[in-house]
Order: sequence, then structure tokens, then C-alpha cells
Amino acid sequence: MIKTKISLLATASLLLVACASNQTAQQAAPATPVAPVVATSPAPGMQAPESASGFTDKPGWAAKKFMVAAANPLATEAGYRVLRVGGSAVDAAIAVQMVLGLVEPQSSGIAGGAFMMHFDGNTVKAFDGRETAPAAATERLFQTAEGKAMSFHEGVVGGRSVGAPGVLRMLELAHKQYGRLPWASLFAPAISLAERGFAVSPRLNAMLKTEQFLRKDPVAAAYFYDKDGNPWPVGHVLKNPELAQVLRDIAKGGADAFYTGQIARDIETKVKSHPTNPGLLTAADIAGYQAKVREPVCTDYKTWTVCGMPPPSSGGIAIAQMLGMLETKNMRALTPVNGALNADAIHLFSEAGRLAYADRGRYVADTDFVPLPGNSPKALVDKRYLAERAALITDKSMGVAKFGVPPATTLALGIDNSPELPSTSHISIVDAKGNAISMTTTIEDAFGSRQMVRGFLLNNQLTDFSFDPVDANGPVANRVQSGKRPRSSMAPTFVFERGTKKLVLSTGSPGGSAIINYVGKVLVGTLDWGLNVQQAISLPNFGSRNGPTELEQGRVSDALVEQLKAKGHNVRVMEQTSGLQGIMRMNIHGEEMWFGGADPRREGIVKGD
Ligand code: GLU
Repeated sequence: MIKTKISLLATASLLLVACASNQTAQQAAPATPVAPVVATSPAPGMQAPESASGFTDKPGWAAKKFMVAAANPLATEAGYRVLRVGGSAVDAAIAVQMVLGLVEPQSSGIAGGAFMMHFDGNTVKAFDGRETAPAAATERLFQTAEGKAMSFHEGVVGGRSVGAPGVLRMLELAHKQYGRLPWASLFAPAISLAERGFAVSPRLNAMLKTEQFLRKDPVAAAYFYDKDGNPWPVGHVLKNPELAQVLRDIAKGGADAFYTGQIARDIETKVKSHPTNPGLLTAADIAGYQAKVREPVCTDYKTWTVCGMPPPSSGGIAIAQMLGMLETKNMRALTPVNGALNADAIHLFSEAGRLAYADRGRYVADTDFVPLPGNSPKALVDKRYLAERAALITDKSMGVAKFGVPPATTLALGIDNSPELPSTSHISIVDAKGNAISMTTTIEDAFGSRQMVRGFLLNNQLTDFSFDPVDANGPVANRVQSGKRPRSSMAPTFVFERGTKKLVLSTGSPGGSAIINYVGKVLVGTLDWGLNVQQAISLPNFGSRNGPTELEQGRVSDALVEQLKAKGHNVRVMEQTSGLQGIMRMNIHGEEMWFGGADPRREGIVKGD
């Protein structure tokens, strides 16, 4: 075993460096799509501000043995190189994450958190690398002196919103269990890119242009902007020697180098010394961080079993609830025709979404602090309960759904009002030995707390807590508490053939609380409508978060909007910048292959052999 690792280290070191070139992915035409999807471009000026890459049609990619899908071509390439030298899915995820933190710093990084679903061919595990609140945090963290909830950016920008980072401890824990290549070798692609520089992407450039707060941090300003305050242009070769050094330390010393030494002390200093909005995070909070392995939320949907992330994410439960309700309806009969969405399908999906989001707002938080009804996700995803909830769906929109009372509910809880704005990144990987991961990773808002330390950005994950600790119904489940993890919407998901442990799909997305709808769309698109994963990702986004019915701007017809209004929907046509990635098992020309998709709204690609 040790011998294998040493010889692999030599090969890995040779192959993992210098992945800045050769980004061409192996592409193949999708095989026998059931319903062709015409992915139209958005009308000029209608792209979401955070969607620098606009909408670029993507073909989908096929491979036989292994595959990686990530939100940036350099990150995908790093993962591909790991897989090619025999690395495991977890090994590849580490290399991908380290490169993402460098080239897509607005979305994720080593001072952020993540959730990772892992499948080893037999068992599914849910790794929790969510940030934690500092020991000194109280439920009044995001309250003004007058006892009102702060505005979102009042909470975000500065040290206040920074939680103890989780992603590195989580990856280390997963690597101990499922790593095949040596830890140090997995940092080589990111170190090399950070030293030699990487080309600023259109998306990073556009986000820097519209960003208001980042330049107020002198360290971030010096890194992201030129001396006149202009963001580095697309293609500018940006070097990050400070991050290279940090990554070298972590490669050598393990996650301890980040959690227990000078790096953690530097984070504390940055958090505490913010001139107007200091925070509470200490080096001791960081040193005390623990990644956790949790039981995934798995439920059957028709001929499949769908497994998702349990609390502190609400993603797995909400998606299981939506599918459980939709299972009682005939979604298959409502397949899009020539890419045009069916109004009845959007109606049912949005109504199921309303009901699921209502329960999410009331019940779901970090279960180490606040128990779910019945003390497990089971009550909320119980088929009988969901059938009762689904029976509330009529031909007319219900507008705003009320939470349900699942079996064994004893608590009176307030309704959470935490804002979640989109940033974040999703990675799906399958390796040659039948392991797979689905990992969603985040520093929360774009550019996190806008505080930069030693070449990386600090998260603002604590603003995923409810800013108000209590309402007329009682304490809010997702209120801030010392050491607690803020509730997430991230929904890294696996789908299996029911009863066989055969993985058929790994997918997930960024998008704040809309993640649940984005991922739900891909599940309905692939499982009910027979689309391949690229087609399902490319479908216009839609759904309701228990407010208006949201449709993706520039991608839906006026007729669809009118049909929904006629059913009583309060329709909001808006930017819906998902960043879906997915890998599915497909039969292509009689052969079983992996088929990957990347979101046309962002810069991702898929690569495999
Ligand atoms: N912080 C959010 C969550 O954990 C994710 C933000 C995003 O997707 O952009 O649910």
C-alpha cells in the first residue's frame, strides 16, 4: 500500500503540475435525447450581474472510465489529471477545490465550507464541512443596537459574518478514508497556477466590475484591482504567491497547518481588526473546528433512490419533499416539447416547492442544536405526510403555503428570514474504481466577507443564520448560537437505480436558496422527462421559494407567463444564475458511459476518459 502511494506520488507530481494549458474537453454528441431542448440565448442585457459568462450552449461530454465536472476549465483539468494517474474521486475533489479557490475566488476557497456526498460503490456518506459560529456568538449577532435585523451587507462586509472554515478539515477527513494519492501531490496544480499565474476569466472580471465592497479591503484591492482601481482585464495573468505559500504549508503540514498555526492567527487578526465591523472568530474557534460524517437523506422516487445532504443543509430534505409530492402527480405526461416548458409542469413543481420551502423555513436548522420534528428527517419526508401535503395542490396556485405538521412535531418554532445570495460552486466526479462525489462548496456571498488574508478570501457564512432570533411563533430554529452551523440550501445529490446501488446521477448547484429548485429541475428533467443531464441543466430555471413563481429571464415565452398567471401565479421573471454540474450514467450507442453536463450560465466544463 505504502509502496503504491510512493510510486503514485512520483507519477502524480509529474502529471499534476502545469495544468494551465490543454483545456479541450473530450466531447461527444448526446445519444438519443428523448426530448430535444432548444437552448435559446438570453436577450441582450438580461444576464444576471453575477453571470459574466452569459449563456453559452454546451454539448455535454461523454467518457467511459472516469469524469470530472467543475465550474472552471482549469479546475476541471486539475481533477482530470488526478483521475488519469489513478486518483480517487476524493483526491480529484481536493485538487479541483484548491484550483477553484484560486481561479474562482468569488465562489469558494480554503476559508469557506462545503458539503460532500461520497459513494464508495456500496455506501453513501454525507461529509459536513459547514462553517461554525464562534464560541462568543450570540443570537443578537446580526441585530442592530435598536434590536432590528441588520441589512444584508451590514452583516456581511467585515469580520462579523466570518465563521470557522470547514472545507479543508472535511477534505482531510474524506482523504483519510478514501484518498489514494498522497495529500501533498493534490496541491501541486493549484500551487503551480498560483505561482505562474492564471488568466482572469470573463466571469471573474465582470464580477469585479460590479462588486462594491471588495475594494474597501486594502489587501483585496491590491490583489484584484490595478493601481487606478480597475479590475484586472480578461486574460490578465494574475499571480498569487501568498496563496501558493499557504497551499505549500497545507500540502506539507496537512489541514493542521491552516487550523492550528500562524494562518489561523492571521485570520483572527483580520476578523478582529476590521475598522467598522469587527467579528468574534478566534484562532481557538478555528483550531476547534470538526468536520462530521452524517447520515444522508435517502428516499425512493419512482424507480430510483435519491440521496441528499441532511441538516445543517435543508437541501436534501426539501428536494425529497418536492419529489415525494410530485410522485403523486403525473410529471412524465408534462414533458417539454421542443424545449418549451409545459405550464402545468411549472405549476405543479412550484406548488410542491412552496410547500417544501414552508417546512424548510420553520423546521430545518443545525440538528446538533435544534431537533427536527420526530428527531430525524424521516418525519418530514414520510410518504404519507407528503401525500397529504400534495393533496393541497389544486389547479390554482395557493400563493403562499403554510408549513405542515409532520408526525411527531412538538416544537413551536418561528419562521427563518435568513437572506441567501448566490455565489458558490459545484463539483461532480466519478473515478475509475466506482467511487463518486457530489460536492457543493462556498464562501457564501460573492467574494464572501470581502476580507482577504494571505491570498484567500474569508467566508461570510454566518449570514446564512436568521438575522432575527425569534418571531411571534417562538424562537427561530436557524437563529445564531455559539458553535452552531448556519442552515444551508446546498444540495449535492446522488441518484441510484432503486434497490441496486447503481449510481445513475451526481449533481448539484450554487444559487442560494434557489439551489433546491435548480437541482429539483435537473432531477425532474432527467428522471421524468428523459433528458440527458446537459439538456436538463440547460432548461430554463423555474420554481417557487414560497413567494412568487420565478421564471428565468430571457428564456421563457410570454405565453408561459400568461398561462401561469391564469392559474393564479404571481409570476416573477428574473435572473436565475444556477451553476449546475452533473454526471449521469447513459447508454450511448449500446455502450454504458458517463455523460456530463455543465451549466451554460457559467464557465464550467467536463472532462474524462
Ligand atoms: N450560502 C448558501 C448556502 O449554503 C449558498 C450560497 C450560494 O449558493 O450561492 O446555502
